[in-house]
Amino acid sequence: MKYNISGKTRLTGLIGYPVRHSISPNMHNRAFQYLGLDYVYLVFEIKEDNLKDTVMAIKTLDVAGFNVTMPLKQIIMPLLDEISKEAQLIGSVNTVINDNGKLIGHNTDGKGYVKSLEDEGITVEGKRFVMAGAGGAARSIAIQLALDGAQEITIFNRTLDKAKEICEIINKNIPNCKVMTTGYEENQLKQQLKKADVLINCTSLGMAPHEEKSIITNPELLHTDLIVSDIIYFPAKTKLLQMAEDAGCKVINGVGMIIGQGALAFKIWTGLDMPIDYVKEGIFSNK
Ligand code: NAP
Repeated sequence: MKYNISGKTRLTGLIGYPVRHSISPNMHNRAFQYLGLDYVYLVFEIKEDNLKDTVMAIKTLDVAGFNVTMPLKQIIMPLLDEISKEAQLIGSVNTVINDNGKLIGHNTDGKGYVKSLEDEGITVEGKRFVMAGAGGAARSIAIQLALDGAQEITIFNRTLDKAKEICEIINKNIPNCKVMTTGYEENQLKQQLKKADVLINCTSLGMAPHEEKSIITNPELLHTDLIVSDIIYFPAKTKLLQMAEDAGCKVINGVGMIIGQGALAFKIWTGLDMPIDYVKEGIFSNK
């Protein structure tokens, strides 16, 4: 890919550690190039100790905007000038815009996930979700689903306290959404899945080095009306998705979410829609 860097080129990028493996530069630079925008997206490996200096440098260098990933998503919050409502509820920031020296933090992870459902013709309002996992991604998704009118969310996680914490946030701030935790026991899960519209895997089971694992091991827990979504995007078809497909379920992988969260960040920085189809075509290549 060739870039024409000019004296007016605006800088965007990603900070976190480790981040060299990220596909975000490919995604954003392809979009900038396609639309002829004088922007570039670079990656900076920043650890906690250097975050304060980095935020100051971003202001000094008039960086247009940037993404934030682990381990900085929470600790950057007090260093920003303003935080959006969803990022406050989620308790982390993945996108920052520099609005004339004022740094405003957003979280596009949950919204990106919802966008990936909508792109498949699935609306959130009134739906019942069962979610596996209660890490950073699960938290963003659960809170966004609740904000967008999900009727019911049931969360199960190896560490139950983390699932309970997400439930408490939703109960306190978005009381219209019914939210609860459940255990791993097959019978309990079967009861929950029977009445669910969408099952979402937000754990890392299914991704290297756990490609052979699945959060659900018995296909009899699934039913043909259930949509099964895995936020893992590599491999494109996890063991869970393969099992769900064999059971006759509609399946959705995590590519839509990663593009969705990136497209929302892109819109925040440039005001423009990301050319999704073009970006998707080459998202895993670097040509
Ligand atoms: P995280 O904060 O580290 O959370 C990991 C989750 O997986 C926790 O719920 C953890 O349970 C669970 N888990 C890990 N190993 C497990 C095991 N052996 N058995 C059962 N549960 C296990 O990570 P995250 O940021 O939420 O990311 C989770 C997954 O989503 C990753 O695979 C990541 O690649 C993917 N992701 C995709 C996107 C996208 O855009 N598509 C975005 C973000 C993340 P405990 O709480 O008990 O530890």
